Amino acid sequence: MFFRLEEVQGEGSQPMKVLILGAGGREHALAWAVARSPRVKEVVCAPGNGGMALVARCVPVDLKSLDDMLRLVDVEAPDLTIVGPELPLSLGIVDALQAKGRRVFGPSQAATRLESSKAFAKEFMKRHQIPTAKYMVCAHANELEKAIAFFHPPIVVKADGLAAGKGVIICDSRATALEAAHGLFDGRLLGEASRQVVLEEFLEGEEISFLCLSDGAHVTPLVPAQDHKRIGERDTGPNTGGMGAYSTDSMLEPQMVEWILHHIAKPTVHGMAEEGMPFVGVLYCGLMMTPRGPEVLEFNARFGDPETQAILLRLESDLVDAVEACIDGKLSEMELRWSPGAAACVVASSAGYPGSYKTGMPLSGLTNAAMIPGVQVFHSGTARLGNQLVTSGGRVLCTAAAGDSLGEALSRVYQALAEIQFEGIYFRHDIGHRAVKSKV
Ligand code: AMP
Repeated sequence: MFFRLEEVQGEGSQPMKVLILGAGGREHALAWAVARSPRVKEVVCAPGNGGMALVARCVPVDLKSLDDMLRLVDVEAPDLTIVGPELPLSLGIVDALQAKGRRVFGPSQAATRLESSKAFAKEFMKRHQIPTAKYMVCAHANELEKAIAFFHPPIVVKADGLAAGKGVIICDSRATALEAAHGLFDGRLLGEASRQVVLEEFLEGEEISFLCLSDGAHVTPLVPAQDHKRIGERDTGPNTGGMGAYSTDSMLEPQMVEWILHHIAKPTVHGMAEEGMPFVGVLYCGLMMTPRGPEVLEFNARFGDPETQAILLRLESDLVDAVEACIDGKLSEMELRWSPGAAACVVASSAGYPGSYKTGMPLSGLTNAAMIPGVQVFHSGTARLGNQLVTSGGRVLCTAAAGDSLGEALSRVYQALAEIQFEGIYFRHDIGHRAVKSKV
């Protein structure tokens, strides 16, 4: 028996064209999840990358230019745009597209301040009694000396604005904290002067990435995840954009999920609505599980990379339905279904990353890797050179797999990685080690 597409999709539902803005592993995972939706007929990625070109049509765009993104949306006329990275959100792409009557998933420029201004996020949390580290905001370098006297090392020094993961410095003395904070104010550390600097109490514990969907009023949690930011085994060496992540149900007890929803995620969404900046999109709560309970380290206003690659492998519901429920304020009518078990992903990077590295290295073994059950290879920094895929970034690939247990997911990921080759390939062999050790 054959069904017409319209019958399967339900009455009135037209096959959709979806545009995804972004170029990394997170966007490749979003494109993969969107392409699985029976409601979608075409996925366009802008600018995308060499791997995304296999599941979607990739078109060039400058993610730093609001005008260029608007031009692209006018040309492509998608039914839905999903914004991956923070920069277009902070430029106000959502407001600009909505003003043109376009459907778009992501928070407004004002709501994105939860991520784009750490000072705003800290003051907001204080106003709404959301647990976070004690802090002081300095608006001028001449306030630093007085403020630092109130902190006991280690002291965390943060740039106020977006800093691509480079804006947090953990200092083991007041003198180094002072130097770091001056470096942020005068532009030496980030190349651009920070308008404000946040000084923060150092928190100890395990970090959890707690992501939620929000329609501006309701909150639905995604499965929890944990990422590994450091380049070296056993979480040593410099910070990176993320070297791997994993997700299991047993990472958080159901009571703890409820606590976080009740004391952190819901008060954030309700507080933003009360203050006239309803948050619609993905609210990423970066949490430290301290001995006195979970505390917010940071908010992001979008899906995390690489957590999303692990999380979406466990999503059984249609991502497009979920995204549309957020846009239409109908999240409370939707329940997300997840596969039990676990998912994990491991990033393969270029030799030298997060420092300088070479690009243009040919990749091989991807077809064999993708044939391992449960495995998806998401691309971060790859490009097409004729028929050949070559490396084009520091983080090159993110190999992800689901499994009945974390052990099974990880063993599939590492089996797949053993098939993949490019000159200088580096990846951590201990992703998920904390969870494997504690057998969650
Ligand atoms: P953020 O961009 O604010 O999440 O900071 C990046 C990373 O710095 C976090 O994932 C933590 O590993 C670390 N970090 C940030 N704030 C603190 C803090 N108050 N105490 C300890 N570590 C922190």
